[in-house]
Formats: sequence, C-alpha cells, structure tokens
Amino acid sequence: MTFVDGITRVAVVGAGTMGNGIAQVFAQSGFPVALIDPIPAARDKARATIEQSLGRLVKKEKLTATAAQEAARRIAIESELERARGAQVAIEAVPEVLPLKLDVIRRLDDLAAEGAVLASNTSSISITELAAATRRPQAFIGMHFMNPVPMMQLVEVIRGHATSDGTRDATMELCKRLGKSPVEVNDFPGFVSNRVLLPMLNEAMFCVMEGVAAPAAIDEVMKLGMNHPMGPLELADFIGLDICLNVMNVLHDGLGDPKYRACPLLKRMVAAGNLGRKSGKGFYEYGADGAKRVVAR
Ligand code: NAD
Repeated sequence: MTFVDGITRVAVVGAGTMGNGIAQVFAQSGFPVALIDPIPAARDKARATIEQSLGRLVKKEKLTATAAQEAARRIAIESELERARGAQVAIEAVPEVLPLKLDVIRRLDDLAAEGAVLASNTSSISITELAAATRRPQAFIGMHFMNPVPMMQLVEVIRGHATSDGTRDATMELCKRLGKSPVEVNDFPGFVSNRVLLPMLNEAMFCVMEGVAAPAAIDEVMKLGMNHPMGPLELADFIGLDICLNVMNVLHDGLGDPKYRACPLLKRMVAAGNLGRKSGKGFYEYGADGAKRVVAR
C-alpha cells in the first residue's frame, strides 16, 4: 500500500479562494477533507463556492450528479484547527503573511499524524523557512496550486532544503491522484511560475508607464501574437496588483538583481488603492457584474 492509499484524513487550513478549491479537488478524488477557517463568512462563502463549482461540473457533464453529492459530503467545513488532528496530509492556504503562516504551520506540526505530509500553498514565501518552523522539515513541501484550482492542471511542487525524497514522491503521487500534473521545482524566490510570469507582467506595466502602448493594445499583442489566453495587464488585474507588487518585491529582495524592480506605476496604483478586479479598478475598470471596461489613459 502506498502512502496515498493510506490517506483517510486531509486537512486544508484557510477556506478562501485557494483553500476551498483545494478541498474540492481532494473530495472529488475520494479523500475525506476537513476545510478549516475561523471566519464564519469565509466558511459560508466556501460552502457556496464549492456547491456552485460542483454544479458547473455536473452541467458540463464532467461529473455525475451522484459524484458531486458524494464529493460535497466528503468535505467537513470546520472552525477549529483542532480538526486537523490525525491528518495524514495537511495543507495551509491562509493569507500570505509570514507570522500567520508560521503560527498555523507550528500548530499543524503538533496536530498532524506521524508520517504526515505537511504542505504550504504559498506563492512567494520560502518553503525552507516555513519547514524550519516544524520539528519535521523533511516532511514539509510546497504544493502551489493555481487559481481556479478545480480547472487548472498544474501543481508546482516545491522542494525545500530539507524535504526528503519520500515526501517528494508521496506528494507527486498525491497530485496525480487528484488528476493534476505536478512539476517539481526547487526552493528559490518566486519558484518557477512567479519568477517567469511576474517580470513579464511588470514589463507590460513599464510599457504602459512609458507610453509604448495603451493597456488594451499591449494585451492584444500578447493574445494575438503570442497565443496567450489573457493579456498581461488583464491577468495582473485578475491576480491583484497588490499581490503582483508583493511578488516583485520578493524577487527583488531574494535575488538582489535590479531587473526585478517593481514598476513605479504598479507601486503608484497600489498606493492609490487600484488593485485590479477586486477593487473595481486597475488597468481596466470592472462593473458590479464583473464586466471589463477599458479605461482611457
Ligand atoms: P484568501 O484571502 O482568499 O483566503 C485565506 C483564508 O484564510 C481566508 O478565508 C481567511 O479567513 C483564512 N484564515 C485567516 N487566518 C486563518 C487561520 N489562522 N486559520 C485558518 N484560516 C485562516 O487567500 P487565497 O487567495 O486563498 O491565498 C491563500 C494562499 O494561497 C496564499 O499563501 C497565497 O499566496 C496562495 N496562492 C494564492 C493564489 C491566488 O490566485 N489567489 C494562487 C496560488 C497561491
């Protein structure tokens, strides 16, 4: 029996954008999941989001109605971290704030089963640093799921300095069991996904700032010319400009190369509260219906 065959309890901590998607894909693959969040509104939203997402999959005939009901039943939405006790897989998906993550990870270290895999869905914090807060850094690994989790194929699996081969193998097998395609990378600032993506988005912002072209023109060039499904500026608005700035700062601080400096326009927009889709305005404006409107610049 492999590690994955023996899993009877998965804990996902943080029921926000990523956590509820992660819980859903585990449940769809037959794993019982405790989805833990102390905020009642976050739990309510997670329940509704999972229901909607499963409903969409049934409508598109990617899942039978029975399989969707069974998946929903496998998810227990909980308020107490104590519910992670005995989990063989514990994944934290709490906000990208180091002290908060360290606190949750230390408590998961106390609660998870012996032999468990402890994972973080962080997009930018060092896996090695998070692992070092536990008594079992060899069992700690990055599982960087992409948003929206039920739709996106990739899981970037990040090996920390002390992650063992066994933990890596178990995690790769687990991702495949979830129907995902894991790719192993090492622990460097931004891993691969953000190290390659964010400087491209940042460069598109420099193009706006320098008047090379309007945002819509830049996005069209990248969509029509490079076959990208979304332009870099609409993607930056989707990710959130505050998140983009944070990742650029992580790359700049961690790698020390001026080529990673955040675009001054990005800094100014974040300072003004123009954070993209979530604030209604970024490189584009968004109506209450979520529809995009081009901002004249
Ligand atoms: P989010 O703000 O949508 O959700 C975070 C949730 O954590 C909230 O529901 C909050 O109530 C909960 N939380 C806060 N403190 C908690 C605690 N002590 N215990 C349990 N839950 C707690 O954030 P998100 O976008 O889902 O991001 C979560 C993590 O995933 C971050 O590390 C982020 O960098 C990473 N990530 C995000 C994306 C993305 O596109 N959103 C993509 C990949 C990775």
